[in-house]
Amino acid sequence: MRIIIFGPPGAGKGTQAKMVADHLGIVHLSTGKLFREAINAGTELGNIVKSFIDEGHLVPDQTVVDMVEQTIAGDEYKDGYVIDGFPRTVEQAVAFDHLLERRNEVVDAFISLHAPDEELIQRLLSRGEGRSDDTEEKIKTRLDVYKEETAPVMEYYQQAGMFRSVDGTGSIEEIYQRILSALPKR
Ligand code: AMP
Repeated sequence: MRIIIFGPPGAGKGTQAKMVADHLGIVHLSTGKLFREAINAGTELGNIVKSFIDEGHLVPDQTVVDMVEQTIAGDEYKDGYVIDGFPRTVEQAVAFDHLLERRNEVVDAFISLHAPDEELIQRLLSRGEGRSDDTEEKIKTRLDVYKEETAPVMEYYQQAGMFRSVDGTGSIEEIYQRILSALPKR
C-alpha cells in the first residue's frame, strides 16, 4: 500500500505516518526528515536545501521529486510506504503520479489531517525538537506557504477520488484511530 499523510505544519503528519507504517509493516518516508538528515550529514543535497528549510520555504519541486524517485527505488520500498510531507505542490503531485505510472503503481489513500491554526502553532512551538524552522516567525511563513502552495494539493486528490479528511485534533491515539478507520480495507 502507498499512503499519503497530508496536512499543515503541526498537524502530526510525521508522528502518525510512523505509527501507520509500523502498523502496516511498511516503511515510513518523510521528505522533511530526509532533508534534515542530508543537512546534518553535510551532503551536496543538504547544502542545496538548507537555506530553503531554514527560511520556512519549499525546496524546489525538481529537487524533491528526484529525491523521492531515488528513495522509492530502494528495495525496502517495494511493498509500499507511508509518506508524509510530500507532495507539497500540485506540480509534485502530478510528477509523483507520472513516476508511479512508470512503476505500474498507484496511491491507495490520501489522508488529510486538519486542525485550527492556533492549535498547530502551539504544537510547533512546544515540540522542542530544536528545529531551525520552529520559531514563531518561521512557523508563520510555513503556514502561509501551506495555504498558498500546498493546500491546492487536496483538490488534486479530491478529483482523483482518494481524498479522506481526518480530524487532527485531540490525542495522538485518538487521531491514529481515526486514520486507521479511514484507511482502505486490505
Ligand atoms: P517537514 O519535516 O515535512 O515539516 O518539512 C520541513 C521542511 O522541509 C519544509 O518546510 C520544506 O522546507 C522542506 N520540505 C519537506 N518536504 C518538502 C516537499 N515535499 N516540497 C518542498 N519542500 C519540502
